[in-house]
Amino acid sequence: MGNATLLIAILHTGNVGGLLLKDVILQMQRVLRAALNAEAHGLAVSCKAIGPRPIPIPGVAYNRVNGKYSVEPFFNLAAKMRPRAEQKLAKEGKKVSKVLVITDVPLFSYVHNSDVFGEADVGGSIAVVSTAPLNIDATIDEFKKRVIKECVHEVGHTLGLGHCADKTCVMSLSSDRFDVDRKSENMCSQCKSKLESLVYKDYRTWDHE
Ligand SMILES: [Zn+2]
Ligand SMILES: [Zn+2]
Repeated sequence: MGNATLLIAILHTGNVGGLLLKDVILQMQRVLRAALNAEAHGLAVSCKAIGPRPIPIPGVAYNRVNGKYSVEPFFNLAAKMRPRAEQKLAKEGKKVSKVLVITDVPLFSYVHNSDVFGEADVGGSIAVVSTAPLNIDATIDEFKKRVIKECVHEVGHTLGLGHCADKTCVMSLSSDRFDVDRKSENMCSQCKSKLESLVYKDYRTWDHE
């Protein structure tokens, strides 16, 4: 597929921290490249933070009753910020494939009526991840690992993957942080081959040239 690039634009909102972000981006890029067998297919995979400064948390997201933030406004934020990211990257001749929003505030989904680590539509273009519930009982390294897993998981959804029954696969559903610790940051061989056919054969799960 020539000089195709899968570009994940990363927006951070709240107080995620530059160091965490830098590590997460590098590791996510590595995991996604491997999962997509990118080199063999001539696909470039790039995860890029948009702007050094965080974007303010959408005010409407805050719920005074439970002290949490509803996840839906973060999707609106991504949609709102996407043109700015597009503009910035167009100067470098790049095109945004997916937008990942990372925040440090706790997220609540009214659709699922529960706390969430993140959310993304299968085959959609936006993924959202919260670091808040992952930063409990963890060293900085354990915390980072969890964040990487959940970022890969949500981006995996946007690429067209559903949940995996293999509890060690990054695409398995995590109900709590113990589930997150149990799984690896990598995709199982079944998810990998599914992903390869989604991305290279179906051409439907991301914007391509
Ligand atoms: Zn999921
Ligand atoms: Zn799997």
